[in-house]
Amino acid sequence: MDISIVIPLYNEDKSLPELEAWIKQVMEENNYRYEIIMVDDGSTDNSWEIIEELHALNPFVKGIKFQRNYGKSAALNEGFKMAKGEVVITMDADLQDSPAEIPDLRKMVLEENYDIVSGWKKKRYDSTLSKNIPSKFFNAATRRASGIYLHDFNCGLKAYKHKVVKSIEVYGEMHRYIPLLAKWSGFKKFGEKVVEHRPRKYGVTKFGWNRFVNGFLDLASIMFVGKFGKNPMHFFGLWGTLCFLFGFIVSLYLTLSKFLFDKTGMTQRPLFFIALIAMIIGVQLFLAGFLGELVSRNGPERNHYLIEDRI
Ligand code: UDP
Ligand code: MG
Repeated sequence: MDISIVIPLYNEDKSLPELEAWIKQVMEENNYRYEIIMVDDGSTDNSWEIIEELHALNPFVKGIKFQRNYGKSAALNEGFKMAKGEVVITMDADLQDSPAEIPDLRKMVLEENYDIVSGWKKKRYDSTLSKNIPSKFFNAATRRASGIYLHDFNCGLKAYKHKVVKSIEVYGEMHRYIPLLAKWSGFKKFGEKVVEHRPRKYGVTKFGWNRFVNGFLDLASIMFVGKFGKNPMHFFGLWGTLCFLFGFIVSLYLTLSKFLFDKTGMTQRPLFFIALIAMIIGVQLFLAGFLGELVSRNGPERNHYLIEDRI
């Protein structure tokens, strides 16, 4: 199999037939052996019926249907599990990404040996205020935090080596940070290609303002999990120990100075309370690290999705 195209979709019934026809045309022009994996993320419109119809006409169209809406990350994750192609392409279902880019993306992965090639919507057809400007900030922050120099992390159109999609777990809202997930899994070569972006033809956007709040919280958590997820003790234990030691030494000094030098009561001195709090916080941090360590060893269920149907 040359190419798997994974398409997460939520209430996109109007776009699907056009999208499938366009992809099919590109695939046949290039003589690719391909599969289109449409992941219906709990749509409430006719998306699944359309996918069934498309499957009946074209056996290369496959489908996964979630019982409820789990989010784009979950949809990508299930699509990735199923993908068989040596190159895996992801794209949005809303016809904003152009299938005509696929052959070039595939070439970059195979010939230039990129692990991931991300699309870059240099010219964007989205609302300036709610999407374009915030996304500049978002991308700059992600570049700094991750050390991966991509212009457009959240572009839905990306190409992956087979091995990459089998090595990463996309959960929560982490679809915005797939290159980062790949980096933590040990992949190094990230490329970028300017892609054509088009205005949404049917339906409405599924992501509102809250994407930015959640996006930054997710970035913080992914950086933390990536760095300390496997050993939370290295973070909490260190700061906990330092904090406790500080409090302990200060209270030792206070005790000594009370008996040796002056007779002011220890509780009269502000330093006493600082030392006390430092020791308490220190112990708490240490315990948080310890609990984190126990939890991180026991989390096999976090990617369990109820799948209603597969075709
Ligand atoms: N999507 C999804 N599950 C969701 C939200 C969105 O599978 O909970 C899909 C959606 O159908 C589309 C893609 O993710 O194929 C990108 O969504 P959208 O076009 O609304 O985002 P935007 O282009 O506005 O950033
Ligand atoms: Mg879109």
